[in-house]
Amino acid sequence: MKLHLCIAWCLVLFVVHGGLAGEPTPGLPVPHYHPDPADPDWLAKAVQFHGHLGPWATAGIRAGMAGREAVGAFGYFDVDVTVEGPMVKPPHSCFLDGLQVSTGATLGKRNLKWIKAKDVVVRLKNTRTGRTAEVRPTNELMDLLNPIAEGSKDKKEKEPPAEASQKHDHHHDHRIEAVARKIAAMPEKKLFSVTVR
Ligand SMILES: [Zn+2]
Repeated sequence: MKLHLCIAWCLVLFVVHGGLAGEPTPGLPVPHYHPDPADPDWLAKAVQFHGHLGPWATAGIRAGMAGREAVGAFGYFDVDVTVEGPMVKPPHSCFLDGLQVSTGATLGKRNLKWIKAKDVVVRLKNTRTGRTAEVRPTNELMDLLNPIAEGSKDKKEKEPPAEASQKHDHHHDHRIEAVARKIAAMPEKKLFSVTVR
């Protein structure tokens, strides 16, 4: 009886520790994310890539979707993306990750380029047809992305941009995730003006 118990226990340990070699199973990192059953599949996939659900990253996803659809590109290998904007560091630069997910134009494939500028504009070219879309965020979207506007000047301490904060308190996470979900669900026309050439 005792022997049986011992064998069973050894088997459990063997499985838990991943077999003889003791090597960890290959896997992806776990993002900082509070999933909602209503989240679209593409949003969860983007979060897996970026690491958290933030407004700037989500705006980048939607901008890439808008541009790719406007020029009829499949994505990945038939697109050339140039983005202008103040994407020096997070949260603004999170936009670039969103763009990569939704266009398939990536740092690795060298078909995504960033140019430092004051205003955000995405230019997406369908390399098969030559059609190019220019995607500019609306004021309504920029108001969601820049919550620390004029009104905060009288505050004693300037609140750090939501997405840049390293804090991971739940209140904070839920607040910025709520803004991101709002951007994810908004009609495209409210988010961008798109011009095709
Ligand atoms: Zn981010």
